[in-house]
This record gives sequence, C-alpha cells and structure tokens, in this order.
Amino acid sequence: MPFANLGLQAELLRAIAAQGYTRPTPIQAQAVPVVLQGRDVLAGAQTGTGKTAAFALPILQLFSGRPRQWAGNAGAPRALVLTPTRELAAQVGESIDTYGAHLELRSTVVFGGVSINPQKNALHRGVDILVATPGRLLDHARQRSVDLSTIEILVLDEADRMLDMGFIHDIRKVLALLPGRRQNLLFSATYTQDVKRLANSLLHQPALIEVARRSAAAGSVAQCVYRVDKDAKRDFLIHLIDEGQWHQVLVFTRTKHGANRLAEQLLRASINAAAIHGNKSQGARTKALADFKGGSVRVLVATDIAARGLDIDCLPHVVNYELPDVPEHYVHRIGRTGRAGKEGTAVSLVSGEEVKLFEDIRRLLKKDIPVLPVPDFKPKVLQPRPEHKPMAQGKSEARRKPRAGGAGRDGRPSYRSEGQTGTGASPGQKRKRRSHNRSR
Ligand code: AMP
Repeated sequence: MPFANLGLQAELLRAIAAQGYTRPTPIQAQAVPVVLQGRDVLAGAQTGTGKTAAFALPILQLFSGRPRQWAGNAGAPRALVLTPTRELAAQVGESIDTYGAHLELRSTVVFGGVSINPQKNALHRGVDILVATPGRLLDHARQRSVDLSTIEILVLDEADRMLDMGFIHDIRKVLALLPGRRQNLLFSATYTQDVKRLANSLLHQPALIEVARRSAAAGSVAQCVYRVDKDAKRDFLIHLIDEGQWHQVLVFTRTKHGANRLAEQLLRASINAAAIHGNKSQGARTKALADFKGGSVRVLVATDIAARGLDIDCLPHVVNYELPDVPEHYVHRIGRTGRAGKEGTAVSLVSGEEVKLFEDIRRLLKKDIPVLPVPDFKPKVLQPRPEHKPMAQGKSEARRKPRAGGAGRDGRPSYRSEGQTGTGASPGQKRKRRSHNRSR
C-alpha cells in the first residue's frame, strides 16, 4: 500500500518521499488512519518499526488543518510527546521537524542536562508539538514556562521503558496537569503489568495495534554467540572488528566503567571508539552519537540505559560484550540493528559466568541462537595509553610485554593490561574499581 492511501496531505507525502520511504511500515499503515480519526491508540511496537512517524504524521496533519494564532498561546502546546531518554526526545524532535518541513507548525524538545533558558525561550515563542522527558517537563511546569492545559494529544513513547526507569510518579504528575478531554497514544515494546495498569487508567476504548516484534523472530537480525572467557573478550572483539572490517558497531557493556575502559582499549588498538553512558554530559553523549552516525567513530560502547531510543539508520552490527541481566534487554539491544527491514548481525560474547543468562535469553526468544567456534587469532598489541607520563609509560610498557616465551597459556602472545588481573593496582584502587563496576 502506498503512503498516499493513508489519507495524508501532499506536504507530508513530499517530506516522506524526500526521506526515501516508499511504503508505510505495518505500524504506520495501522496507526495513521486511526489517529487521524481522533481515537486513542495502544500500540505494541519497538523502536525501529517506524513508530515515530506512526504518531508524528497524523498529529502534524491534524494540527495543520487547524492553524492557530500564537498571540495568547505562548508556552501552551497542543501535543505532548513524553519519552524516557534525552536521546529519544532529540530524535523524535528531529523526526517531527523532518516530516513537518513543509508545514507551518512549530515543535520543540525539552530535556534535562542542558540549560533550561533556551528551552524557555522556545516555549515562549509558541509551539504546537512539545517533545519532553518527564523530569525537565515538570521543571518547566513548576517554573510556569509551559502551560499543559491546552494539550489535545498526549503520546507516551516507549512507555515500558519510562516505567522501567521509575518515571511513573513523574508521569502521574504530568497527567494531573493535562485537560481531561484529549486523545491518548501509548506506544510500548512490551506489555508488562505496569504498562497495562497505566493503559487502563489512561486510554478510552483504544484501537489496539500490535506489530511483529522486530527481533530474532523478524528474521532481519542474524544472531550468533561465541563462548569467550571474560579475559579474552577484548582481544576477540578487536579481532572481530578488524577481520570483519566492521565500520559501525554498537557494543553493549553492563557498566559505565566497563564502557569507558573498553572504549579506551579499542582506541589503543587503533579502532576509533567512544563511550556513551549516564555519567557523560549531554554534550559528550550528543557528540559521540553524531560522530558515530557520521562515521568518524567506528565503535560506540554503550550501557543499556544510554542506548535506549538510539536511532541509528542501517546499523549493521551489535555486540553484546556482556549479556544483560534482564533477558528482555537483549531484545532491546539487538533491536538496534536490522532496523526497518535492513539486515543486521547481533553477536554475543558469552563467558562461563553468563551461560545461565544466555539460557534465559534463549527461553525468552523461543529460538536457538547458533554458538560458533572461536577461531584462532593473534591478539593485536595495544598502543601505550597516551596520557601516561614518560616514567609511568616505561613501567606500563614492561607490563604489556608478552610474557616469557612470548606466549600465554593458550599458546598466543599474551599481555596484561589495565582492568585485567594483577595490574599492580593498590587494594584501594581495586576496591574503587569494584564499586565502579557495580554502578550502571
Ligand atoms: P522508529 O521506529 O520511529 O525509531 O524508526 C526507525 C527507522 O525507520 C528510522 O530511521 C526511520 O527513519 C525509518 N523509517 C520510518 N518509517 C519508514 C518507512 N516507511 N520506510 C523506511 N524507513 C522508515
């Protein structure tokens, strides 16, 4: 079915065509007509299914048919899109700008971690569609820079993740500021009890839309597993990236510290990498993502929370450097690849300690994931850490030298490096590392 059959106006069709979209995705085909009718929607759809356009296109069309005066409407948007993360908010905002390029509508994005004043100014100039993360939106409401009493359409995007991240109280506070009469659209990848409860309290006779989970079942992601000892993972990852000539890889670690350390080690292996996690400033996160999308960063190392909502077109490779504790997160992670029907690979490096987690994931997917043999490979020698002072450098060089005979236990040259055992760290430093490792 072509887009024109969805009843969208010419300006939107033009913007869609400019994006190279030829036909609506299943969620778009189902949601657009229903939203245009003004109905509430409960949609089961993950990131990557085209869900943003599924709500953005009809909202833009509904508002463009009813332009309004800005005088007297400062700070009073007509649609509110709530998202769990800053990255997702920014991406949704970009999509709305893209789809609405030929319409006289205004949108803006507000999220925490950046200065509030430019956001206040944008709100004051007047907006039709406001995309926001819950905490910063409440800051604006408290400071009276936004008036939510004129909201006609509310979108909860990735509702399950918002609840996972503990936003239920903030969401309830936001709901209390909205008018009773409005259209509600709830998008969620999973239907947990909490999501059902929220949906029941929010939606009026919603149209139920479910699209196929884009995961193992969708077939566009080729998954495989390598059984690799914890200590050998780094060398093997470097080997996979080099051998496969992977140019864009999203790698998941369990901890922020682990993400930093791995990114640094990849840099030392001459693989351009950046880490993205909750301890990074918003500016650093945005830059890392832009560099990754632009191709100057080859590997983005991320924690689960930071990776939520990342929209990276045609991402070819995802690596689970460490498996997530929660099996559902595996589905979210590999959902970063094979997007909108494109091919992708998801490789998991599973150590002995993670076998049980892997079994849980297999049970959830109801699918066998092939376990491939680890090929023989020669670990790449890492460059010295650039920030080392000459004295320290000498010492660390000695530590990195292959052990006597040039080979480790497995017959390959081996070396010790930061983060592996016996680095000479003091007990205090080790304790510090352990506590870092616990923080996500
Ligand atoms: P989303 O699920 O909204 O995060 O969208 C995932 C990706 O699919 C985005 O990169 C969109 O640009 C892309 N996309 C959305 N709709 C379509 C479509 N109809 N055809 C091709 N790509 C699309």
